[in-house]
Amino acid sequence: MPFLPDQADGSPVRAYLFAHPAGHSLSPAMHDAALASLGIEGRYLALDVPPSGLRAALDELRRSGAWGANLTIPHKEAALPLLDDLSEEAWAIGAVNTVVRRDGRLHGLNTDAPGFMAALVEAGVAVGGRDALVLGAGGAGRAVAFALREAGARVGVWNRTPGRAEALASEFRLGHVSDARLPSAARSAWLLVNSTSVGLRDAEASPLLPGALPRDGWVCDIVYRPLETRLLREARAAGLGTVDGLGMLVHQGALALSAWAGRPAPADVMRYAALAALAGTQAR
Ligand code: NAP
Repeated sequence: MPFLPDQADGSPVRAYLFAHPAGHSLSPAMHDAALASLGIEGRYLALDVPPSGLRAALDELRRSGAWGANLTIPHKEAALPLLDDLSEEAWAIGAVNTVVRRDGRLHGLNTDAPGFMAALVEAGVAVGGRDALVLGAGGAGRAVAFALREAGARVGVWNRTPGRAEALASEFRLGHVSDARLPSAARSAWLLVNSTSVGLRDAEASPLLPGALPRDGWVCDIVYRPLETRLLREARAAGLGTVDGLGMLVHQGALALSAWAGRPAPADVMRYAALAALAGTQAR
């Protein structure tokens, strides 16, 4: 049996998700709903690909009939040397979340960064010339910090492991925020973005100490499980604008689908499907 199944429920697989572990992703629900709404026969299939299997999975993808794949933890950075070429953005960020197969070659894209910006724009947040503080220097933090810098914000980065934030700040020419400066940097930021995994599946965890919210402006949490994190709840109670993680999830998926299919993706259909899947998994 081939490593990559090319059929799911009797339909051709158009795109895969390579993840480890693969359980509970919202992407199959979002993409299957979008394919149905576009009238395209096919499915999106999430596969558990351990780190040791990534090279073989990408080799099979190259030879398959699929449009491509999404990559998530732990593959976004490891895939770079295994692809045939990279977009400028993916190269600069150092992470690929979308692989497009064309003429037997694999092209790496990063749709997290433009997906994050699309979510901010949709919420009416214009960051040019503003002070932004990014919490987290993992794969998502890198995409968020890059996107904010490209949009003209003055960006500072904090990370639990300080060396990672220092390295990111020096690579992208951003400010580095130490533990000692975190509360004051958070209070003076106009936009604060949580791109750590704090709050994921824990509605009481917050990456910030109480009282360290921005005085004015916006708080965005890219964690989407739950949608209303403690950070967002406290920000809303303090009168700040808030942006949850659903918009980024939907827009990174819509950008991936339009790169694969060569036509605009139905973002509203994808948003509805993601919300329904989220409600289903939270009810369990
Ligand atoms: P990652 O590469 O594994 O990075 C995890 C980050 O969280 C690192 O900065 C890590 O700090 C930090 N962290 C983990 N536990 C922490 C703790 N207890 N206290 C403080 N910091 C902690 O993961 P990722 O891909 O960047 O994803 C991060 C989060 O973003 C996840 O919750 C993911 O679901 C979410 N995300 C959302 C979207 C979306 O579309 N909305 C897209 C991508 C990711 P260290 O460096 O110190 O370990």
